[in-house]
Amino acid sequence: MRILIIEDDATIAANLYDFLEGRGHSVDAAADGITGLHLAVSQDFDAIVLDIGLPGMDGLTVARKLREEAHTEVPILMLTARDTLEDKLEGFSRGADDYLVKPFLLREVEARLTAMHRRSSGRVTSRPLESGTLTLDPKTMSVRFSGTEVKLPPKCLRILELLMQEPGRVISRDEIERLVWGEAQETSDTLRSHLHTLRRALTAAGGQDPVETLHGIGYRLRTGL
Ligand code: CA
Repeated sequence: MRILIIEDDATIAANLYDFLEGRGHSVDAAADGITGLHLAVSQDFDAIVLDIGLPGMDGLTVARKLREEAHTEVPILMLTARDTLEDKLEGFSRGADDYLVKPFLLREVEARLTAMHRRSSGRVTSRPLESGTLTLDPKTMSVRFSGTEVKLPPKCLRILELLMQEPGRVISRDEIERLVWGEAQETSDTLRSHLHTLRRALTAAGGQDPVETLHGIGYRLRTGL
């Protein structure tokens, strides 16, 4: 993803920048609202991380201008040190798509950005996903692997769809659970059993198991099968 960070706290900005860049994203950063707004309207980004408390123009104003004046739909993740419900509601009404209260985990930021990006790209297109001989048509939710149609339960389909949206990228257990079940699950058993069903159905179609487990990190779709 191309990500813009608008944050005046140099430490938080540097941590976000290094983490997201290290995860393979292309990152730009601005330390004040006006510079951030200018970057956001003059370049294409897949997602914006926007601090609320900024010098010059605050984050709420930046978000409102992006939506109402620049008419951009780019997903916005708001950051704030103030965790009152009032702030949260105000932030959302001005065009934020999601919200995190400081301090936050860096991987939580990435998970939220990825989820927002998926939701926003899903609005634009639902073209068939392809990776080697594996195809998934999001419109009909039909899957083919090695030339054979594969029948999958709904949750397994959703997991496969997530993996196929970004082949080769590692997706953490937490992120898959949040996107498939709406929240992290108490034990890893639920996801593990669904992955087992998914893999068994795919390998029964005659191909090599396309889902790779990276122990303690997450899962990814093998490319080139
Ligand atoms: Ca700030």
